[in-house]
Amino acid sequence: MVIVTKVIEWDMGHRVPNHKNKCRNLHGHRYRLEVSVQGDLCAEAGSSNEGMVFDFGDLKELLRQCISEQLDHVCMYYAEDSLLREFFAAHPEQLVAIAVPFIPTAENIVRWCYEQLKAVLPPHLKITRCILYETPNSWAEYTEQT
Ligand SMILES: [Zn+2]
Repeated sequence: MVIVTKVIEWDMGHRVPNHKNKCRNLHGHRYRLEVSVQGDLCAEAGSSNEGMVFDFGDLKELLRQCISEQLDHVCMYYAEDSLLREFFAAHPEQLVAIAVPFIPTAENIVRWCYEQLKAVLPPHLKITRCILYETPNSWAEYTEQT
């Protein structure tokens, strides 16, 4: 088995509505997601993927489609956060936001990213590592329990 890793980044706003400190304020981060996938090397002679686990370009495109394209320069907010829900509902033409059924902590966002990718990844590949950096010094890692 060989493991390959791709990194993507995007800018996104959020807040943690119940937080005891400054994370309750609306603010943003440069999010960085590191995803590693494991699989057998393609042995199909003459194939574009010969000698690869998965084409880095194809992995990048999957990550773009299912994660960064949806999240870049938007605000992710908890659907039960009435303050932001009402704010965004009042400005549907001016602002793009994504409501999610969880408080958008790094821990919950990394799980969301994992599930987004898992839903579109070819079934012969397994996500072995999924790490979301909220800052260069703070990150969350999602691992599926087996
Ligand atoms: Zn934050």
